[in-house]
Amino acid sequence: MKIYKTYKFRLYPSKEQQELINKTLGCTRFIYNTMLYEKEKLYKENKIIKSKKDCLKELPHLKQTYPWLMEVDSMALANTIFDLEVAIKNFYRTKNYPKYKDKYSKNSYRTNYIKNIYKNRMYENIKLDMTNKTITLPKLKKMKIRGYRKTKEIKGRIINATISKEINRYYVSILYEKNLEEKNIIPKTIIGIDLGVKDLVITSFGEKYENKKYITKYEKKIKNLQKWLSKKEKYSKNYCKIKSKIKETYKKLKNARKYIIHKITKEIVNTNDLIITETLQTKKLIEKKEMSKYISDASLSEIIRQLEYKSKWQNKHYYQINTYYPSSQICSHCNTKNKELKDLNKRKWTCSKCNNENDRDINAAINIMWEGLINNTKLFT
Ligand SMILES: [Zn+2]
Repeated sequence: MKIYKTYKFRLYPSKEQQELINKTLGCTRFIYNTMLYEKEKLYKENKIIKSKKDCLKELPHLKQTYPWLMEVDSMALANTIFDLEVAIKNFYRTKNYPKYKDKYSKNSYRTNYIKNIYKNRMYENIKLDMTNKTITLPKLKKMKIRGYRKTKEIKGRIINATISKEINRYYVSILYEKNLEEKNIIPKTIIGIDLGVKDLVITSFGEKYENKKYITKYEKKIKNLQKWLSKKEKYSKNYCKIKSKIKETYKKLKNARKYIIHKITKEIVNTNDLIITETLQTKKLIEKKEMSKYISDASLSEIIRQLEYKSKWQNKHYYQINTYYPSSQICSHCNTKNKELKDLNKRKWTCSKCNNENDRDINAAINIMWEGLINNTKLFT
């Protein structure tokens, strides 16, 4: 089985290299906006949808008109056209129309790995050296990188590299294709997981991983800043100031969230063979009110995403139980469904049959574990 894995490094370009990266970012933005404008124009005037191929054909002409486009990585320019195509395809699904890019937009470009053999010598346009911690990228040449300190070598085939700029810091993400050796593991350890808001993850072993306070702090800060922003005149000096503050806080929130979630999911997948969760849909059905109080449920979908792929990488089993399974209403001690249990926000409840006092979340996690186990008996043979 083939799997794809991304490695993100901090990049340390020299002054000249920084200039070239910034220039490339500017050029890709220019291509994106130009093509989007032309597509719109052609559609409005002639009801013709300009194809990706036509856009690509136009690149050489654009380079002649604007010679500065020739100074940057041409693969990055072509990839921008592919990205625009994806953005337009997404629009049909999500109704989010592709926006023109400005300096607040996501600042990154992508280049593909190419290997050439010339006079019996191999040339690669992307070269990663984990011993000396350097990377060579098209047009940019060699640069220092930092990250994955303990990794001596990354196995697999490089597909592409994405160079990004985040508040004056530079990064490179390298996508690898790897061959995964498939093994059939008979589960010896099983875990059921209930996903929450205050506690992010609650396990059938009774452990709770809380949503760290500083994450809630960042979320509140963003909310306040957005309130402020709505009161300011658009594109005024203060407006721009708040806007970049929001962007900065988002970035901090994203990183903090990622760090915590990686730690939690790593621990769970390393120590268990069969991992069972509910679906995110279930959570939304049950805790609509509680969920809507928070800015996003991005953390929960990220946990599910990571559990899923990390399980796959380690040949472990991941399973999601049916959306309508009433994990919160069943007493995990006597298996009675407490239908009258309406207020699901109560942290503890007493079973009407066995009188057992159940912790809402741990009880749900245990039920999720059993339900998953019943549906996966074939794994044990
Ligand atoms: Zn009971």
